[in-house]
Amino acid sequence: MSAREKIAYIKGLLDAGKPEDKLALSLFNAVVDALDALADENDALKKQLEEQQSAADDLYSICGELDADLSDVESRLGIDEELDEDEAPLEDDYTEVACPSCGLHFYCQTSMLSPDDHCVECPDCGEKVSVDLEAEDHDAD
Ligand SMILES: [Zn+2]
Repeated sequence: MSAREKIAYIKGLLDAGKPEDKLALSLFNAVVDALDALADENDALKKQLEEQQSAADDLYSICGELDADLSDVESRLGIDEELDEDEAPLEDDYTEVACPSCGLHFYCQTSMLSPDDHCVECPDCGEKVSVDLEAEDHDAD
């Protein structure tokens, strides 16, 4: 039974056996009016929800068409969708280091160097190796 049907049922009960007490009658009538108002508001909200749902469905289908169009344009231009722009290039992040103790040449991330003395631990012998970033910069110039 829907809310409207339940309200109609209560109205029918009231019509069949109206309470003799005037206060009780006006109270019942006020409650039925309030229920009617709630049912009206509920219907209006339902209608709004349906409209928004249909608008959202339209947007989804437009987005789907745009995505298909974009894929079409990308394939015509030969753009590989797998190329992700948040894959940052690795160049400049690494510097080559030669360990003076064991002679190992290795690469270390410049951001991993200790900020005060620009040292890194040799992965082979564990010796602290000082990295001259200034020299690297001058080479680049
Ligand atoms: Zn070493």
